[in-house]
Amino acid sequence: MKKTLISKMDPENIDIELLKKYAGIIRDGGTVIFPTETVYGLGANALDEQAAEKIYRAKGRPSDNPLIVHICDIAQLDMLTDSVGEKARLVMERFWPGPVTLIFSKKKTVPYATTGGLDTVAVRMPAHPIALGLIRESGVPIAAPSANISGRPSPTRGEHVAEQMDGRVDGIILGGDCKVGVESTVIDLRGDVPVILRPGGLSSEELEAVVGRVETDPAIKSADTGAAPLAPGMKYTHYSPDAQVYVVKGSGEEAARIINRLVEDNAKKGIVCGVICTSQNSKYYDAPVKLELGYDSADAARNIFSILIEMDKRGVHVVYSESLEEKGLGAAVMNRLVKSAGYRFIEIQED
Ligand code: AMP
Ligand code: MG
Repeated sequence: MKKTLISKMDPENIDIELLKKYAGIIRDGGTVIFPTETVYGLGANALDEQAAEKIYRAKGRPSDNPLIVHICDIAQLDMLTDSVGEKARLVMERFWPGPVTLIFSKKKTVPYATTGGLDTVAVRMPAHPIALGLIRESGVPIAAPSANISGRPSPTRGEHVAEQMDGRVDGIILGGDCKVGVESTVIDLRGDVPVILRPGGLSSEELEAVVGRVETDPAIKSADTGAAPLAPGMKYTHYSPDAQVYVVKGSGEEAARIINRLVEDNAKKGIVCGVICTSQNSKYYDAPVKLELGYDSADAARNIFSILIEMDKRGVHVVYSESLEEKGLGAAVMNRLVKSAGYRFIEIQED
């Protein structure tokens, strides 16, 4: 167990001396968890091979799953790549700082430990004053995947980070709840048609408005396309609580009829069930544990990971979740839900 330095920090009123202490940990090759607008990140110096390796150890992350490198200004991009295309420039101008990560060919200075052995590097500028301040004060780009133990739901609330990661990293900065709540959209803009490698906090519709038609890597749509996903991390099971999650294809009264019956049958066998539903549809369900996604897809993005973590805390064995429409942020939320369920669906049969 490491001794972890844990501090609370107000994003609106940053204690700069304290932030410098954490920046010192990064400069010395240590690991620091910090808030971003997407999810909490587990960071280390992206240009230091041994520091990057510590991230994989702290998370138990497979070494072929590359890390996203976080920068605080456009000038830092020069440390990582020397080929920035026109479409990439447009996306950065429009959406950075923000929840979108771009793939570039990497410079030699970026170690393979950071890129999971790839010749490309994924880069993002986070829209969070603590994240930007930490990068600026440490003077190096910070590689930071989500701050969960590999395979578990990503933490988006301070208390969930400390519970999972105390003792595994050198420092944790607690800066409240993450405003977006799902990880960044990862996009490769190098080809003729941009490809989304992971749906996330910036919708494909918003990207299309700037760069024209975008495709989504077909390998991430289901478990059995046989193709390797372009983002290596997408092949791993992910976001899973201890409870077994099922996604019901549908929502509202129709889905509730199926789910309520399953909950009742399970209760007779002593199996505790939880339901994930929108706030509008909450009235249809009578499960012992019912957690609401909120009223729209932005609410759902903000709440999904903490709901999955909360289900375990409430001792739930089986979770049934409604589906969301895969539009806007709904696509990212459904990706996380379906992966947490290990692609297990329940179809609604017509009577
Ligand atoms: P996380 O760090 O947990 O947010 O996950 C980062 C995601 O970005 C994973 O799915 C990675 O596989 C993906 N990723 C990072 N770097 C690259 C890269 N160079 N090429 C393709 N995908 C990448
Ligand atoms: Mg992750």
